[in-house]
Amino acid sequence: MSNAKEWSEKLFYKKKTVYESASKQALDAAHDYARGYAAFLDAAKTEREAVKEGIRLATAAGFVPYTLGERVQRGGKYYYNNRGKSLILFTVGSEPIECGIRIAAAHIDAPRIDLKQCPLYEESGMSFFKTHYYGGIRKYQWVATPLALHGVVAMADGSVIDVSVGEDERDPVFYINDLLPHLGQEQSKKPLGEAIPGEKLNVLVGSRPFDGADETDAIKLNTLALLHEKYGITEADFLSAELCVVPAFKARDIGFDRSLIGAYGHDDRVCAYPALSAILECADSKHTLMCILADKEETGSDGNTGMKSDIFMDLINEIAQSLGGNPAVVRANSKCLSADVSAAYDPNFPDVFEKRNTPLLSCGVVLTKFTGSRGKSGTNDASAEYIGWLRGAMEKEGVVWQAGELGRVDCGGGGTVAKYIAAHNIETVDLGVPVISMHAPFEVIAKVDLYEAYRAFVAFCTAE
Ligand code: MN
Ligand code: MN
Repeated sequence: MSNAKEWSEKLFYKKKTVYESASKQALDAAHDYARGYAAFLDAAKTEREAVKEGIRLATAAGFVPYTLGERVQRGGKYYYNNRGKSLILFTVGSEPIECGIRIAAAHIDAPRIDLKQCPLYEESGMSFFKTHYYGGIRKYQWVATPLALHGVVAMADGSVIDVSVGEDERDPVFYINDLLPHLGQEQSKKPLGEAIPGEKLNVLVGSRPFDGADETDAIKLNTLALLHEKYGITEADFLSAELCVVPAFKARDIGFDRSLIGAYGHDDRVCAYPALSAILECADSKHTLMCILADKEETGSDGNTGMKSDIFMDLINEIAQSLGGNPAVVRANSKCLSADVSAAYDPNFPDVFEKRNTPLLSCGVVLTKFTGSRGKSGTNDASAEYIGWLRGAMEKEGVVWQAGELGRVDCGGGGTVAKYIAAHNIETVDLGVPVISMHAPFEVIAKVDLYEAYRAFVAFCTAE
């Protein structure tokens, strides 16, 4: 080589957008893929709904339910439904099980507002639900916006009633009041995080009194009468209910060019959906594959449906033992993608990012070596060797990817389920889609990044 141009092409790393490398057909494919994703978003606003939708798609692809204790068969395609709130799919490959399992783990819960167990009350001509928010929300974003109610009421007789109000165009929606600017001067002086305290997130659900009632709580009574008419429930049944308030909007294209999707709960359905579609598509891979769709990530992965639950290890043990493998050897040779979103660089808020190491929108799927706060506290910090392997697997398939970190050093930080999986001696790294306005009621992603995530999961499931 003789000149600087040749040397710079050979030596420099330059982050590229998907648009720079993808063909017209590939961009069309990304656009088509996004339609299926948008339908999944609208059908699955809670973990329970995501499990149902996941089972529907898996069943259509030939997967069958697995029960603990059952022997798994080579070539089998299974799903394990954990209490209707987390879902683990696995396919048994032709190679020896001690070669390990290829695992993709995403979460299907999202930040929202849950009802308390004694939620309903009446005050000054309105009936409301008391709530307790779930996950990291910025409370000011949830007021003065249309909301839907999703969840279940578990009756004392063992029956479970599904609730979904606010999704159908003919449904009513719900609402959290905010102050008018005319009277909001004191509120406006407060720090953003204190302007709307948690106990003010009361959801407006009615204002009409029960016909002919002159007693107190006539509006509350009317609200209960309507719930009784529709669901057969009484106030006591809230005691054993899980009811979630989520944004009432559907997923929509954003931008004149329709290149982006705005929706509730991209974190982490934008990884769960491509991880799921990859295992459905790669079910015949010679590798044994597993796709974990976990609950409770947004509250710390605790509980029996969260990633810290033993169920995931129990299943690996069952698979290993069914096929005559040592579970410790299986784990030692397994590889995992902890599939979760990253924060995309936002030019409106440049101060919190370090641009050279922050994922950019439309530059493909993000590989995050480490997460955590301060001095990488709480991080999995994947090994260079594992990242090298994954890099090779993605580059072989032409997957557009970028390295990324969640914001500037010492600015905050965050974590994922990666460390809970890595703790079992499984190679694990974070991979996901960059998101604008993460945890907002309406988040934004780029369709091309979603599609590269899907292609990355397929490359992972099929690579040598
Ligand atoms: Mn997440
Ligand atoms: Mn999150």
